[in-house]
Amino acid sequence: MPVPDIRIETCNNHPPRNDGSYILYWMHTARRLGWNFALQRAAEWAKKLQRPLLIVETLPCASPHANLRHHHFALDGMADNARSMAGHLAAYYPFVERKPGQISELLTELGKTASMVVTDLHPLREALRDTQQLAARLPVLLERVDSNGILPLKAADREFTTAYSLRRFLQRNVLPHLLHMPLADPLADASLMPPPTLPTNIYEHWPAAGDDFLTGKRGALRDLPIGQHTGSAAIKGGSDSACQALDVFLREHLALYESHRNQPQRDVTSGLSPFLRWGHISSHQIVQRLLDHESWHPSNLSLETRGQRSGWWGLSTNAEAFLDQLITWRELGYLFCLWRDDYDRFDGLPDWAQATLLDHAADPRPYLYNRQELDTGQTHDPLWNAAQMQLVREGQLHNYLRMLWGKKILQWSATPQQAMATMIELNDRYALDGCDPNSYSGIGWVLGRFDRAWGPQRPIFGKIRYMSSRNTARKVAVDQYIARYQP
Ligand SMILES: Cc1cc2nc3c(=O)[nH]c(=O)nc-3n(C[C@H](O)[C@H](O)[C@H](O)COP(=O)(O)OP(=O)(O)OC[C@H]3O[C@@H](n4cnc5c(N)ncnc54)[C@H](O)[C@@H]3O)c2cc1C
Repeated sequence: MPVPDIRIETCNNHPPRNDGSYILYWMHTARRLGWNFALQRAAEWAKKLQRPLLIVETLPCASPHANLRHHHFALDGMADNARSMAGHLAAYYPFVERKPGQISELLTELGKTASMVVTDLHPLREALRDTQQLAARLPVLLERVDSNGILPLKAADREFTTAYSLRRFLQRNVLPHLLHMPLADPLADASLMPPPTLPTNIYEHWPAAGDDFLTGKRGALRDLPIGQHTGSAAIKGGSDSACQALDVFLREHLALYESHRNQPQRDVTSGLSPFLRWGHISSHQIVQRLLDHESWHPSNLSLETRGQRSGWWGLSTNAEAFLDQLITWRELGYLFCLWRDDYDRFDGLPDWAQATLLDHAADPRPYLYNRQELDTGQTHDPLWNAAQMQLVREGQLHNYLRMLWGKKILQWSATPQQAMATMIELNDRYALDGCDPNSYSGIGWVLGRFDRAWGPQRPIFGKIRYMSSRNTARKVAVDQYIARYQP
């Protein structure tokens, strides 16, 4: 089946050129060679116009939180892609930006001899802006293709303010999209033309990432204008590692997901969020594997559309609980960011949350910590310090501790606006899954987004849901955790 129209957006008014040298796919979000609607669409164009296919994967240095940790993870993925391209009828050009602006120059130059260009749709403002600006510069058609989630982002014409309302919408509308998965291997078709030869000025001015980057000689990153102080995390990026993590989850942890997923010490969640963030795995692939694992059939789907969390898919309670996170919660954040430009601002919170936080803005703060003290885990709360240190060292934090982490930053900041800025700064810098739509929905959730008002009102929090380290201590084997991650 071809890529569904609802996932394709035409970004300018130019037609494709029949005499171009190649179809250019600019890969910047769905950084993988399978289960990728944008790559599939580019391959469809290549066959239709009988042009070779050129895949350019770019890694920018200009984004505010580009740093060694994120670059290492992304480069692992580029190395996997380079390896997997062997034997395929398409060219793969991995490009690591050495100074801001180079990606845009490279794409503009390549666009001059392209038949048309396909790229990824990503809902954050920088990606929307960059693709729109490229569309305006290109002399040929640019299409933006949505591989983000099971529900196409354009299937709804608005954001959802609660998981419940999105769940109801999904229950009514998801089935046709669920049955229309992207191809596992869109490059498998032997009718693609041999890879193109690029103009020599491309290799000279914008050299492809060489072995120094792709084979792990990481000293190569030292000269890049990116954050040099956030070292790499132990977890390896790339589609191969992502598939291994999925295998382990299905085999060893899924059976405990519903009962133990809120217990940080049990570690039964999938750990897939960094791979989803970097596009090394697709939610379609995860869902398909899970449905196969459970021998699911579309007739299992319940006809009830009450927004119920379980008993909807006709799967085990563990699988239903997992899909609720992967589809409902994850896509809630993606939809929110697409439709709301204020997704990372205080005035993007619900009115009731802003009002209650402002009502309590002048409440005395028994503890106030500055950014530096928080960054280095120098608070009076050993559990919080340990959580911050896990984030700093490993780039990951269990969802339950992450909620507590955010709530305490609210409690220890001079204003809620400052708390939001601090959460964004620390999360986006250190978390391997940071700078994702769900970074802003998770942080927004700490401040009341997608949640409801709670009573009784508390100092600083007002009606915002409260969490305490003491309660968390009942769920976590605190002593061991604190000893392991002490600053
Ligand atoms: C303060 C704060 C900051 C957060 N920052 C991020 C972030 O930067 N990037 C990010 O992807 N998530 C973020 N989250 C959401 C959540 O913590 C992570 O998605 C989850 O911990 C990832 O672990 P996992 O892959 O093992 O999840 P699993 O439990 O295995 O879930 C599978 C997938 O479902 C999605 N998911 C799970 N929980 C949530 C959730 N609460 N909201 C949205 N999607 C979810 C993720 O894509 C996840 O990989 C944040 C939450 C909070 C409270």
